[in-house]
Amino acid sequence: MDTILLLAHVDPDGSLAKPAREALAAATSLKAALAGSTLCVGLVGADVQAAADAIAACGAERFVGVAGAAFAQSRYATDALAAEAICREMGATLILAAGTSRWCRTLPGVAHRLGGRADTHVTGLPVADGAVSIARWYYRQRMEATIRRTQRPWVMLVDPGCLEPWDGATGAASVRLIDVQPPAGCVRTVVSGFLTPAADAQTIRPDADLLFVAGAGWTKAQADGKAHVPEAAELILTFLRRTQASLGGSKSLVDLSGEGQSVLPFMTHLNQVGQTGATPRHPKGLATCCHGEEPHVVGWRFISERRAVNLDPNCGWARGKADVVYVADAFAVMRKVNALLAEQTSK
Ligand SMILES: Cc1cc2nc3c(=O)[nH]c(=O)nc-3n(C[C@H](O)[C@H](O)[C@H](O)COP(=O)(O)OP(=O)(O)OC[C@H]3O[C@@H](n4cnc5c(N)ncnc54)[C@H](O)[C@@H]3O)c2cc1C
Repeated sequence: MDTILLLAHVDPDGSLAKPAREALAAATSLKAALAGSTLCVGLVGADVQAAADAIAACGAERFVGVAGAAFAQSRYATDALAAEAICREMGATLILAAGTSRWCRTLPGVAHRLGGRADTHVTGLPVADGAVSIARWYYRQRMEATIRRTQRPWVMLVDPGCLEPWDGATGAASVRLIDVQPPAGCVRTVVSGFLTPAADAQTIRPDADLLFVAGAGWTKAQADGKAHVPEAAELILTFLRRTQASLGGSKSLVDLSGEGQSVLPFMTHLNQVGQTGATPRHPKGLATCCHGEEPHVVGWRFISERRAVNLDPNCGWARGKADVVYVADAFAVMRKVNALLAEQTSK
């Protein structure tokens, strides 16, 4: 009989972030699918009680925590100690956690200490005939594999954005705290602060409903024979401000800066979508001035509804890669869309 453990680190305000609640949803569905299995929760943070109360109704039989100032921040040494102690205490065979940078750095090492195995980038946990598998993608999201392991414990890091987060009633959870003392010298790494761009300079928003992709066409000569890069930048930024969409770019556009050409100053390689870029997950995507070549579109694997605006009726999007292609000038389209959005917000 499997003991399923959901491991989560608690945010500084005592809450559980969305990726942790997504991993919890995976754990609860695994418990429902595996007859006779039990579910338990292990929490790590400065104070774990509020987080446990927030998920008290998730069906876990036991809650354990490792709490204290030393466990508040992300640090391999203390996170690994805490996670190992929780896994041993629970006798967990299937260990699920969100694929956050904090857990991705720590849990493979913990699996090694426990004599188990770890898999990252898990996108699904199908169960057939009482056996658990994981689904994950390989070769830049081109092939999906289903993997089973006999080795236990099995640590599974669930990719954020693949599952609906667990949502249920709060309650009063009884949390057993395990006393873990970090050895001297173990806490010598200290997070001294965060440097993040200003909120309106941050254009990558993984939780946005819409991915807006800008292609190199925005910087190319237009019908009048001239490029209109400042106007392009203004149109794109206005749209992003009004919709809070996430910004993606084609490789050609993000590479332009290296070629000394006019560029959109807010576009970096981090925005690149595609085979050699990111594979974001948003319910909808809108590509503008982007040709829709295969190495770019392969990064759209997980975008459910795709639309594109392109002057070229024979562009890649029109060849079965988008649900809707608007054959139009993206400058004119986005000018009109921004005006409509402004009207909507002024109402
Ligand atoms: C090994 C390898 C890996 C690669 N990896 C990636 C990757 O990860 N991501 C990626 O994006 N690419 C990748 N590429 C490059 C990819 O093949 C394309 O070259 C690139 O995506 C083209 O970018 P683009 O569509 O923005 O530019 P272009 O091909 O120059 O297309 C510009 C488009 O803008 C349109 N346009 C111009 N003006 C307007 C207007 N006013 N209104 C509407 N439309 C307009 C044009 O009709 C044209 O279709 C890779 C290539 C290789 C070989």
